[in-house]
Amino acid sequence: MHEPVLVLNANFEPIHICTTRRAVCLILAGKAGMVANGRGNIRTVSLFLPRPSVIRLQSQIHRPRPHVKLTRREVFRRDNYTCQYCGKREGNLTVDHVVPRHLGGQHIWTNVVAACSACNHRKGGRKVDEVHMHLLRLPKEPPTNAFYLFGRHLGINGEWEPYISGW
Ligand SMILES: [Zn+2]
Repeated sequence: MHEPVLVLNANFEPIHICTTRRAVCLILAGKAGMVANGRGNIRTVSLFLPRPSVIRLQSQIHRPRPHVKLTRREVFRRDNYTCQYCGKREGNLTVDHVVPRHLGGQHIWTNVVAACSACNHRKGGRKVDEVHMHLLRLPKEPPTNAFYLFGRHLGINGEWEPYISGW
């Protein structure tokens, strides 16, 4: 009951992901309708229901477009699992603060990059120009389109693609 279910707004815009349990509650409460299933059925003493994969809210909710949360995993994904100093994709990636935190650098999208442990060690808490290192590209906040927001789930939820594309 914990598999992810894609939640669409009433206008079909994908807005977030919830658990199967939550999706079933919304459906039974009449707050959402099933858009896609195909994961078998849910069977309890009193209930027989196709297992939802995508649901759609009955009434439109208004909310700002979500932003990608700044986490290690999302930094690596934005940087394509590539060290932003040497361009290597191997080794243990770390999160590097371009302007080190002890020099006032903030923990924000424009100041964090993926760095291999060798480059992180070489940089050693100094600024980029001090150590004659160069960034492959300037770090930016990731795009907030639905494909980027929910794309990492497509590997195991390929059926979501038509609901995510174009938003
Ligand atoms: Zn590197």
